[in-house]
Amino acid sequence: MPRFEAERSDNLRTRVGKYELGRVLGEGTFAKVKYARNVETGQSVAIKVIDKDTVFKHKLVHQIKTEISTMKLVKHPNVIQLYEVMASKSKIYFVLEYVAGGELFDKIARKGRLKEERARRYFQQLIHAVDFCHSRGIYHRDLKPENLLLDSRGNLKISDFGLSALAEQRGEDGLFHTTCGTPNYVAPEVIVHKGYDGARADVWSCGVILFVLMAGYLPFDDSNLMHLYRKIHRAELKYPPWFSLEACKLISRILNPNPRLRATIPEILKDSWFTINFATPNIKEDIDVGLNEATEVFNVSKELIAVGMDDKRPQGPAQWNAFDLISLSNKLSLSKVLGKIQGLRKQAHFTSRYPASEIITKMEETAKPLGFRVLRDNYKMRLQGSEAGRKGHLSVAAEVFEVAPSLFVVEVQKACGDTLEYQKFYQKFSKGLEDIVWKSESGADIPFHMHSIKFCISHV
Ligand code: AMP
Repeated sequence: MPRFEAERSDNLRTRVGKYELGRVLGEGTFAKVKYARNVETGQSVAIKVIDKDTVFKHKLVHQIKTEISTMKLVKHPNVIQLYEVMASKSKIYFVLEYVAGGELFDKIARKGRLKEERARRYFQQLIHAVDFCHSRGIYHRDLKPENLLLDSRGNLKISDFGLSALAEQRGEDGLFHTTCGTPNYVAPEVIVHKGYDGARADVWSCGVILFVLMAGYLPFDDSNLMHLYRKIHRAELKYPPWFSLEACKLISRILNPNPRLRATIPEILKDSWFTINFATPNIKEDIDVGLNEATEVFNVSKELIAVGMDDKRPQGPAQWNAFDLISLSNKLSLSKVLGKIQGLRKQAHFTSRYPASEIITKMEETAKPLGFRVLRDNYKMRLQGSEAGRKGHLSVAAEVFEVAPSLFVVEVQKACGDTLEYQKFYQKFSKGLEDIVWKSESGADIPFHMHSIKFCISHV
């Protein structure tokens, strides 16, 4: 994959790859967004230019790579699409769908609050898109007005899904801290850095956005930051008299400071106020495009590797140490106790005494007849389902780890897609791998925690 250096074309416009850069559309703390045109097709795009240093400095390489991979598979009518990613020596270029309608909140700033029906329509589009991304394992974590754009037909488009980590900074405590702007849209549990559930935090921000659309002002606001935090923690808000009772009820269920009691998206989707005139967006999942994009995902990694963004990979399988083993053996014994939950586990392990290369080949041969495309990267592999299921294409990640010379643990886990579909897949997949799984003399699989405990005893 070639590097793309920004260069001047004959008519003195800067070119990046096949894109001719134009005016600046907007500027954030860490990125500049420029209008650009694909010179081959004439298509308008928006290119977000980010300094690689920013990514390195905040130790975000791994996260960015994973999220880019997933975002390239996400296609929702209300999410700005990521077409491709390019890199030069010092910059990363995200090529995005261009939308011409500007920011939704500029409209409110100019024309004031929206009528309830209009606000509901945007909110429906917002919730459906957020739900779609969550079902594919992507959380926004920074939903706010600047990230809500409009297309030329007045449809809402969320920008920065999957890229929001760039707007955050790790502090000395290793936690993420939001650096930019006001915390008005941020859930209380995010403010206190207790570790939070991305889905529930996103729902809170959607609630604040709905309030702003209907009121024309923020539900929690104060020039003193401590007072503002207190208001958010207590969810102290007054509803304007023009809000309908049903809207107030829904907003108060969403703006519940206790994330566990907060309305979830499935609950919002059933709410009587929300469902009025709700038309589920038509999501076309093109299987072929999905598969091509899946291959591209690896190209993205290669691009980034080509420009020195690779985390140095060992040639052989990664090794597990005693601590990995202890933590896994604990997990396993816990999941045994929780027998019912075990059936829905998204992660599985088995042990094998076969050489790592044979394990990988066997897994590939087993997955292909089950309708999966196999993408290999050393001792890691991605299995991409060819048919779109309930939550999109099933994608499974597998990796072989070495625990001792000639003893390997294979970890298989769902990367995205529906958990039940994954369970069905895993049953068939593990049956096909029976030959390479390490068995006891009685023929039963040796439970992994038994090896791990033995190893821990001899290694610690
Ligand atoms: P951001 O850094 O994503 O907050 O973007 C800064 C500004 O650039 C936004 O507020 C928009 O005005 C503009 N912008 C970002 N993405 C796009 C896009 N895909 N199409 C058109 N304008 C955009």
